[in-house]
Amino acid sequence: MFNKTGRQIIVETIQEPVSNVLKILGKPKAAPDGWRWTNHLVFQEVGEGTLAFNTLTRELALLSPEEFNNPDECPELGARWFRVPAQMDDKGSADLVRLVLESLHQRPEHVTTYHVFTTMDCNARCFYCYEKGRARPVMSVETAHKTADYVARHCGGNKVHLAWFGGEPLYNAKVIDVICNDLVERSVEYESSMISNGFLFDEKLIRRATELWRLRQIQITLDGAEDVYNAVKRYVDAGEKSPYRVVLANIQGLLDAGVRVMVRLNVSKTNCKNLLTLVDDLKTHFAGSELLTVYCAVVHEFEGIGIVPMEDEATQELFANIRLLDQRLEAAGLLKRRRLKNKLPMSQCMADSGSSLTVLPDGHLGLCEHYSEDNFVGSIDSDELDGAVVQSFRERFEPMPRCADCFEYPTCIRLKKCPSTAVCMPETIVLAKANIQANMLSIYNSKKSKMGV
Ligand code: SF4
Ligand code: SF4
Repeated sequence: MFNKTGRQIIVETIQEPVSNVLKILGKPKAAPDGWRWTNHLVFQEVGEGTLAFNTLTRELALLSPEEFNNPDECPELGARWFRVPAQMDDKGSADLVRLVLESLHQRPEHVTTYHVFTTMDCNARCFYCYEKGRARPVMSVETAHKTADYVARHCGGNKVHLAWFGGEPLYNAKVIDVICNDLVERSVEYESSMISNGFLFDEKLIRRATELWRLRQIQITLDGAEDVYNAVKRYVDAGEKSPYRVVLANIQGLLDAGVRVMVRLNVSKTNCKNLLTLVDDLKTHFAGSELLTVYCAVVHEFEGIGIVPMEDEATQELFANIRLLDQRLEAAGLLKRRRLKNKLPMSQCMADSGSSLTVLPDGHLGLCEHYSEDNFVGSIDSDELDGAVVQSFRERFEPMPRCADCFEYPTCIRLKKCPSTAVCMPETIVLAKANIQANMLSIYNSKKSKMGV
């Protein structure tokens, strides 16, 4: 490949590296024992060569066949940290970069995201629900007023993001009205998202959601095609109608109202075939919808707060199913690929970000949606947060020996209190790699089509 002046371009950049990371890494050291690829690379072949993504520098580049096959002939690969001295400690460099960036990173001064549990009650009776067997408190109107007051006092005048959560948040929609009306009255800017089963919406409620609640995004879970979905959900208020059809109609209504809908498919090792039928059905209803995306999630068996580990064979089958479903979703145009983030994460999630709180139905404040009965950090009645509990949610697991040569290491944060990342399964890494590769391809293809190639 040549540039306009006819000079050969060495290593074509598709996504620029993070300049701060390059500054921290400095110039590559001498390589008395030669050079090798860094452990932080993910490769993906394309017609014109090989895409390489460096998970530490965040650079995505297209390597020509010559550069890929004879990398020692291309010094630029070393200068841009795709190749490193053979004796280099990759994990050590990633640790250094993270240490410096984290010491420079300032946690936000104000809490601007609130995950509000309007109720722990729900109109569905899914077998896998981690809330089963727990108490089902409901937020009172008085607590809703106090919640809005707390939000207004702690957002520092910034725009607030409200995430309605439950149970089923629509089962106590009146407190959403109360909180939003109070925020409007106090001129607090806000928008919201929701995790819901989507069953209780109707035309009027969708209008209220977009106008008063300023609902911009909703996540709705589908557990299977019509028969399976209806049998899994076991709605207590289903009446004569097929809940599956009601929810699909509501998804359409939300899309028509401009709400982004994320459909989550709960995948277990046994339901893949049925989910493939569901994907076909979703394609028939929603193909071409820009605001809809469908993605797969693993259904874990929970025991208390921990995940019950599965047998190896079952795990492999489960992840094979997810890969197959992802392919089918992508072919149907229902899976929207995410971009490759162009910075390294400084926190894992809402629990350690410092900008987010959960508000439980009784007004307790927490940090993680999985801890709704304990590990509170405060209450809406007080301006103080319990620093020790806040800190406990920031504690990370020490890396394991196998992390040293894992491509995920620069971005991998595992919190000791997080039930979702407590176990690092090889299948998860394989899936993460496949996702990065798919994202690399998507970015490359979109760049090519923009250039009219
Ligand atoms: S915990 Fe797992 S994913 Fe993270 S760096 Fe280690 S091996 Fe990789
Ligand atoms: S479950 Fe894990 S990822 Fe989710 S909020 Fe809690 S700590 Fe964060």
